Amino acid sequence: AKVPVFDPSTPQEARKFVKHAMELSERHQVPVMLRPTRQICHAVQDIEFNEKFSNEIPQVKFDKDPHRWAATPRDRYLLHVELNKKLKLIEDEFSSSPCNKVESGSAKVGVIASGMVYNVARQILRDLNFDAPLLKIGTPFPLPQKMMSDFITDCEQVVVFEETDYCIELQIPDRRNVRGRLDSTIPSAGELTPDVVGKVLSGLQGDANKTTKYFSADAGLAAAIAEQQTPPRPPRLCPGCSHRSAFYAMKREFGKRTLYPGDIGCYTLGANLDAVDTCVDMGSGSDIASGFYHAHKIGRTGGSGGKDRPIIVTIGDSTFLHSGLQPLMNAVHTDARFVLLILDNRTTAMTGFQPTPANPEDSNLNPERSVSIPNLVRACGVEFVRELDPYLHDDFRSVIREAHEHCRSPEGRVAVVIAERSCSLHEPETVEKRAVQITDECDGCRYCLIAFECPALVLSKDGSRVDLNEDLCVDCGQCIDSCHKGFIIPHPEMEWV
Ligand code: SF4
Ligand code: SF4
Repeated sequence: AKVPVFDPSTPQEARKFVKHAMELSERHQVPVMLRPTRQICHAVQDIEFNEKFSNEIPQVKFDKDPHRWAATPRDRYLLHVELNKKLKLIEDEFSSSPCNKVESGSAKVGVIASGMVYNVARQILRDLNFDAPLLKIGTPFPLPQKMMSDFITDCEQVVVFEETDYCIELQIPDRRNVRGRLDSTIPSAGELTPDVVGKVLSGLQGDANKTTKYFSADAGLAAAIAEQQTPPRPPRLCPGCSHRSAFYAMKREFGKRTLYPGDIGCYTLGANLDAVDTCVDMGSGSDIASGFYHAHKIGRTGGSGGKDRPIIVTIGDSTFLHSGLQPLMNAVHTDARFVLLILDNRTTAMTGFQPTPANPEDSNLNPERSVSIPNLVRACGVEFVRELDPYLHDDFRSVIREAHEHCRSPEGRVAVVIAERSCSLHEPETVEKRAVQITDECDGCRYCLIAFECPALVLSKDGSRVDLNEDLCVDCGQCIDSCHKGFIIPHPEMEWV
C-alpha cells in the first residue's frame, strides 16, 4: 500500500513513535501507520511524559485541490509518481532515524529484529552469551536500505525476526546470506515467542538445545500457575450475563440441527454453549445466514440439511450499529429467511464499555441523541420486530419460535428479535435479586455446568455435586431452568424481587 510503518517494541516507544509518525505525516503529506503487534497492545508499562502539552486548538483548514482530493486517473498517475519520490526521501530519513539503531557485537552472525521481538532477541543473546551485532528496526517500511546493506555487508549471515509475516525480508534485494521466515529458518506461522527465538539463535550459535536451559516462557508460566494453585478458567460469559440466557433459550427451542451464525463480541463465547457456529468479521453473521438459506433452498442436502433447517443469527448491539445494517438490508432484498437476534446489552462490553450510538450519552457522559435500533431495523424493510428481556425464559422462547415461524411462512421475511437487558457487569444494579439454592439432592450430573456454564456454578472438590460460588454469584436466578431435575430452587430465605 506504500504507507510508511512504525513498529514499536514497547508501549513507551509506541507513544514516542506516534509523535514521529504525526510529524512525518504532516511534513510529507502522507498517511503513516503505527503497527503495534499483539504483545505490545496487551503489555502494561508506566509511561513517562516529559514534555508539556499545548492547549492551543489548531487551525482547521482545507485547501481545495481537486487534482489531489478528487483525482481522476491522470491525476492518480501523477500522484503515484510523487508518492514514490516521497517514499525515497522517507527511506533516506529512516537510515539516520533514532527509531533504527545498531548495537555492535563481535560474532559473524548478525541479528535484525523489529517490534516486540527485538526485546526477546536482545534478552536471549545475553542469556546465551552470544555477542552478535543487533540491528533494531523501528520503521519496517520503507526499509532504511543503506543502513541495512551496511549491516549485512559486515556479517557472514544475518537472521531476521519480525512479526507477523515477512516485510523486512522481502525488501532486502540480495537475500543470499539472509535467514528468516522465507527460507524456513524461522517457522512461517505463529508468534516469535522466547522458545522460538531461542531455538533459532542457539542453533546459529552452534548448539540448538542450549536455549531451553536458559529461557523457556512456557515452563516459567506453568511453574507460576502451579505456585498460585489457580484452577484453569477458560473464557466464559460473566455471571448474570443476559447473552447466556438468550443462548440457552435458543438452544432449548431450536436444538443442534439449527445453524447459528454469530459475530464478534463477548457473545462469541456462545460458541462454548454450541450456540455460535461461525465468527468471521463484524457483520458477517447475517451475510453467512443469507448464504446458508439460499444454498439450502436450492442445493442438494442430506443428513441434517434441508431447506426447512432453522437459521438463528446473533449479533451484539454495537456490532449491529457498526456493520450489521448492510447485511440485513441485503437479506431483506434477496428474501433470505432467518431470525436475527440482536443482543442489546446497551454498551460495547468487550472493549471496555464504550457507549454505542443507541446510548443517550457519549463516553464523557455528555447528552447525545440516541439512535433507535428497532426503527433502524424497520427502515431496512423488516416487518417482524420484537423487543424482549431474555431473562423471561418462557416468553423469550415463544417470541423466537414465533419469529422463526414468521420467517418461514409464505408471506414472511427475515425476522428480528432484540434481546434487551443491560450488561450485568456494567450496570449490576439492573440485576433483580433472585438468589438461588442448590438442594442436597443434586447428584453432580453436571448438566447445568455444561449447558448453562455460569462461572458461579462450580463442581464440588469430590465431584459429587455442584455448589454455588457466592463470591461470583450475582443472584440473577437465571440458572433455575438449567437443572432439569429441579434441584436449583429460589433461595427459601431470600425474597425474590
Ligand atoms: S443465580 Fe445462577 S446464573 Fe445467576 S449468577 Fe448465580 S449461579 Fe449464575
Ligand atoms: S444442579 Fe441439577 S443439573 Fe446441576 S449438577 Fe446438580 S443435578 Fe445436575
